[in-house]
Amino acid sequence: MTAMYSDRALVIGAGFAGLLAARVLSESYGDVVLVERDQLAADTEHRSGIPQAHHPHALLARGAEVLEALFPKLGTELKAAGAIQADLGSDFMSRAPAGWAPRDPIGLSVRSMTRVTIERIIRRRVLKLPNVSLVDGVTIDGLLHDRGTVTGVQGTRQGTPFTDYADLVVDASGRNSKLVSWLAELGVHCPAPMIVNGHLAYTSRLYEVNHDLKLDWKTAYEITHAPETKRGGAVSSVDGGLWFVTLFGAGGDMAPTDEDGFLSYATTLRCQDIAEIIKTATPASKIYRVGNLRSRWNRFHKIPNWPRGLLALGDSVVSLNPVYGHGMTLAALNCAALRELLAEHDLAKEPLIFQRAVAKTAQIPWMSATTTDLGWSEKKLPLSTRFMQWYARRLFQVVPGNRHVYRAFIRVSQMVDHPVSLFRPAVLWKVLSGRRPRATEQ
Ligand SMILES: Cc1cc2nc3c(=O)[nH]c(=O)nc-3n(C[C@H](O)[C@H](O)[C@H](O)COP(=O)(O)OP(=O)(O)OC[C@H]3O[C@@H](n4cnc5c(N)ncnc54)[C@H](O)[C@@H]3O)c2cc1C
Repeated sequence: MTAMYSDRALVIGAGFAGLLAARVLSESYGDVVLVERDQLAADTEHRSGIPQAHHPHALLARGAEVLEALFPKLGTELKAAGAIQADLGSDFMSRAPAGWAPRDPIGLSVRSMTRVTIERIIRRRVLKLPNVSLVDGVTIDGLLHDRGTVTGVQGTRQGTPFTDYADLVVDASGRNSKLVSWLAELGVHCPAPMIVNGHLAYTSRLYEVNHDLKLDWKTAYEITHAPETKRGGAVSSVDGGLWFVTLFGAGGDMAPTDEDGFLSYATTLRCQDIAEIIKTATPASKIYRVGNLRSRWNRFHKIPNWPRGLLALGDSVVSLNPVYGHGMTLAALNCAALRELLAEHDLAKEPLIFQRAVAKTAQIPWMSATTTDLGWSEKKLPLSTRFMQWYARRLFQVVPGNRHVYRAFIRVSQMVDHPVSLFRPAVLWKVLSGRRPRATEQ
């Protein structure tokens, strides 16, 4: 049973986390307003507020499950829009640093689609809710407050000042959120964020599917791995007739954005299908690159004088190296926690309860995303991190010849199982006793 609090909640940012938050808040607030910088009238197109939409977005199995609870039959709707559901064994060609992963069916799948498609479908569902509305074309640049309580937002709309008031304000303005400086204007100071930089770059392009190429997978993935594997790539079928190709560069490496350079980088990968697609398929977009992708955690849960009337979630709190595909799933988990807590608490009065829950949901994805990336650092790392890196390295060496270990790894990487399951005796034994594949097998 959901509790009803007060009249009005306002969400800054109608991106992925903002939309999910609005969906959840609509159960407890009479009126929920999404305030978005971009104009969203042409809702099938790219917009500048989410530049990451030029790059592929995969939805982890755990994320799909949480979203389905918020939006029943979302999976069916995504499928109808052309999203691909790939079994992480039989439909997934995955290259660990030491060799190819086994291809037996795993019974767990990842969904791939363009970011524009998943956001459009969710936005339409959210805006159909009778008590949710959208005000677009507004850039928020500060918080209104009264004696330690946030009471609204201020900003500009086409050059004219904009203010709005709410009982609860939720910051979901993403990776480049200005919340830390808005809080400083209120005299609230945040601890320095934790930052781990994998110096990662994505270079991506869409292609029309070339049906002459007979491929026995729906998604191919070649991972980067510190400190020796700086190059990787991925390709998946998206939105019906398209392939999304991405070339990864880590540790400072990056694929060029010109035609020849893009292809020539792809030919250096083990997965030669990627280069073959680039050579033979018809491009359906420009080549886009985003660099310096890092993981950053704003530890808002540690701020004792965090203002009442304010919550933050999604990338505004924790943004991760996207290569592991955690972002949307983490936003969904934040919103599942929001829903659960709103049933018991007036979070406008007790916001830190929520910020602590956000921190809890972030712990595992943060550890997964940063343990490997810390391998690019030249600093001496804590013993616990070096142990995890050593174990991960052994595990990746064993994956090519061992479907049991691969399955355990996949279930953890899809956030379905806790990482501790990688230390279950059956997995531990195989990881510690497994042999490295011979050069000919690699
Ligand atoms: C290259 C790349 C690839 C990725 N791939 C994946 C993937 O495969 N799988 C996955 O799960 N995640 C992936 N992610 C992460 C995913 O995009 C984010 O985790 C997710 O979008 C977080 O949602 P959000 O709502 O917090 O931020 P966003 O979705 O970025 O939304 C923020 C919104 O706030 C608006 N906004 C910003 N500032 C203001 C302001 N001042 N006033 C009003 N509105 C404002 C923006 O216009 C935008 O609409 C990837 C990220 C990157 C960078």
